[in-house]
Amino acid sequence: MTEKLDLPFESGMVPQILDPNAKIRFACHKGVSCFNACCKHADVTLAPYDILRLSRALGLSTTDFLAKHTVPFQMDAHGVPGVKLRTDDEGACLFNSEEGCGVYADRPTACRYYPVGLLAMKPTTDPTDKQSYFLIREDHCKGHEEDRELTVEAYREEQGVKEYDDLNRMWYQIMLKKKSAGPSVGQPSEMSLQVFFMASYDLDRFRRFVTSDNFRSVYDLDETFYLEAAEDDLVLLRFAQRFLRQVLFAEHSIPERAGAWDKRMQERKEIWEAREKAEIERRNQANEQAMREET
Ligand code: SF4
Ligand code: SF4
Repeated sequence: MTEKLDLPFESGMVPQILDPNAKIRFACHKGVSCFNACCKHADVTLAPYDILRLSRALGLSTTDFLAKHTVPFQMDAHGVPGVKLRTDDEGACLFNSEEGCGVYADRPTACRYYPVGLLAMKPTTDPTDKQSYFLIREDHCKGHEEDRELTVEAYREEQGVKEYDDLNRMWYQIMLKKKSAGPSVGQPSEMSLQVFFMASYDLDRFRRFVTSDNFRSVYDLDETFYLEAAEDDLVLLRFAQRFLRQVLFAEHSIPERAGAWDKRMQERKEIWEAREKAEIERRNQANEQAMREET
């Protein structure tokens, strides 16, 4: 069995796989009769580096970018959160204009790849993931009728996706691993879904979390790391993906302070016990009230 994750969308079928040397016939430019047609029906799922690039290009924090330019959706039955670019009521991307894409230099991975789809696959028997490609043919896209042939690899180079793939790769692996683990990892808690959202998409919030005293009291990292994480988005992005592996799959690559975890669990236990006690009291009072009203 193979778990797969496709960009720009999840399809139910396994499409015809293309290797990097496969040739495609395609060109997109202002002269095509369908210019802008795809952006008028945009369904663009964003990966972590897409959000970072777009937010910085627009001079926004990731938190403000998410609030202004994205809509949330659930990526699987467990409610793992995903985000898509916001569109207008007709489905057109808000960055689209008659001149073309308003964020072209920083456009997301899915826009760069189109009409090539990226397919990250992981056979359940294999520890490593594999990246393959497929071609999306939609009637409205006339780029397939253009007289230009090039390999998938040359197309990726032209579209500048390699940097995006490099910086998103660990995150794709996390998604695949989560899918292949399936129900065995159980229903994620609300807290772990929130951590997933923050570490995947809201890097500025994650930065505040990582540089907080609470974080420092649990994880044993040197001061150089904190200085870099405070300044360098890419250091933080890569660290966020390591952090997710540790939190979701207990793959320990970030050293924890001796006893810190137990201490935190003890603190949480006390909070849970206090909450449970309060809840029991609340229920008892409600029952008493109900009995008084009945008599
Ligand atoms: S980001 Fe740019 S390329 Fe992507 S859908 Fe919007 S307008 Fe089109
Ligand atoms: S529909 Fe195809 S050819 Fe037309 S603008 Fe979009 S990607 Fe380019």
